[in-house]
Order: sequence, then C-alpha cells, then structure tokens
Amino acid sequence: MLNFQNILDAISVQAKNTQEKGKIASYIPQLACIDKNKFGIALLDKNGTLFRAGDTSEQFSVQSITKVLTLSMAFDLLGDDLWKRVDVEPSGDPFNHLSLLEQENGKPRNPLINAGAIVIADILVSKLKNPKAEFLEYVRSIANDSSITYDTSVAESEKSTGFRNFAAANLIKSFGNLENDVDTVLDFYFHQCALSMSCEQLVNTFYIFANRGKCLQNNQHLNLSQIKRINAIMLSCGFYDEAGEFAFRVGLPGKSGVGGGIVAVFPDNFCVVTWSPGLNEKGNSKLGLQALEKLTTDSGLSIF
Ligand code: GLU
Repeated sequence: MLNFQNILDAISVQAKNTQEKGKIASYIPQLACIDKNKFGIALLDKNGTLFRAGDTSEQFSVQSITKVLTLSMAFDLLGDDLWKRVDVEPSGDPFNHLSLLEQENGKPRNPLINAGAIVIADILVSKLKNPKAEFLEYVRSIANDSSITYDTSVAESEKSTGFRNFAAANLIKSFGNLENDVDTVLDFYFHQCALSMSCEQLVNTFYIFANRGKCLQNNQHLNLSQIKRINAIMLSCGFYDEAGEFAFRVGLPGKSGVGGGIVAVFPDNFCVVTWSPGLNEKGNSKLGLQALEKLTTDSGLSIF
C-alpha cells in the first residue's frame, strides 16, 4: 500500500542532507536574504488528505507560480479571445528572454514566461476595477484563506531592478499588444509575483488543477476544458527552457518560481508543492526538482 508520508519524510531527510543546494536568486535584492537550508514538501491527495514534511507552513515569495493563477483569472474573464494576445508554445528560452518577442511581433510564446505574464497582467488591469485587490481576493477564495497577502517589500525590490521586465513590457507595447501604460501593468505584475504563501497554502490553492476545477470547499472555479488547457500549458511551458527536462524526470504538469517553490499536479490524484530556495542554472529549484523526481519514481505515480 502506497504511503505518501514515508516517501515525503525520506525526501525531506535526503534534501536536508544534500550539500549542493543551488544558488539563491539575487537579481531581486529582497529574495537574496532567504536561508538556503529551508526545505518543505506538502502533498494533498484527491480526498483532501494533507501529507507534509519540513518547512511547509513558512511563507515564501511564490513569484512565477502566480502566473498560473493570473492566467486562470484572465482566461475565465476573456475566454478564448485570450489566445489572440498570447500563444501556447514552449519558448525553449529563459524566463526573461526578449529575442523571440521581437521576432514574433510582440505576441509572447506562452503565458508562463515573463512576457506572456505581462500581457496577462495587462488583461487583468483592463478588465478589473481594482486589479491588485481583486486578484488577491481570487487567490484567497480558491485557497479559502484570507491571510494570504502581498509582500510589498518584495514588489518594491523587484520594481527597482526589473529592467528586463520594463524592456519586455515596452517592446510588447511597441507592437500594440499592451493596452495600459507600462508602469501600471508592471506594478500589478510585481505585486502578483510578490504574493507570499506557504507550501500548505499553495497545495490548497493548486488542488483545483488536480480536482477538475473544484477547490477543497467543493466550489467550481474553472471548468474541465479550462483545467485541461492550463495543465497542458504547465506541462509544456512551466519550467522555461527546462520544461522538457521536468516532464522527462518528473512527469507531471507544474510551475516553478524564482523564490524556490515548485507546484506540480497529477489530475485526479494529487497536488504537490516543494520549497527549497536554491536554484539550478535554469532558474528552477534544484532540490525541488530532485524531490519531485524521487516522489514520482518512488510512488510510481506520474501522468505517463
Ligand atoms: N518576478 C520574477 C521576474 O519577473 C519572476 C520570475 C520567476 O519566478 O521565474 O523576473
């Protein structure tokens, strides 16, 4: 009989004992001060049973993981018109690359690279009266947790060094694919990235992607077709130029963030989140990737 708790405990011990933990992202100054030794893994199975090991209740900066949530909200508001503004192909490029954007006339390759998420942010800024407050409310309602909030010091920190994101937004604007002004859109984008959540809060939120769009309270947030599309985008585009490697080693749709978090889902089975702040050369959590590879290998559970 499969015992998730034993597997998670073994993963946590292995992670704590691994010397080579990767490098903390320092291009956002506020992220540079996180303790590299933090490690947490939380898994919520389809029945809503939570398994956890390590630092799973400590909040961290979830960064690009939020791109899945802004995509969900924008997709719900705009429907298939969304795909006129952003494509659904893997980029094969680092998260902040600009060259494809120039070649492809300001239509980002997918919503999970920075350029794509900036277009999604623009859509939310256009559609919502109070975008930052309404997006926060959306996440809180899926997680059923009103304590989730933005770390404004991280947002300000990124604003002061977000030169590539300003460049991307200006390039997109020059091609006419940004309706609002660059500063307003990026203010929203930097705040979404600065959401602070724990592994436990993240599994509660991403449970909808493993549970056909329904949260733990049994409310339907997205329909089956939307869930299929978003999970497909996570599988093909969730790890920048390491999406192939993640599918190859882990075999689940997922999304990483430079704060060191990774979420992964096995539809109709479970949702899992890891947090380890050290990143590999591709900007994905080094130990998180190893942990998820061990989870799907030891449990024999992956979508393949
Ligand atoms: N806020 C980060 C950026 O725009 C997100 C990158 C990530 O988490 O991968 O650079």
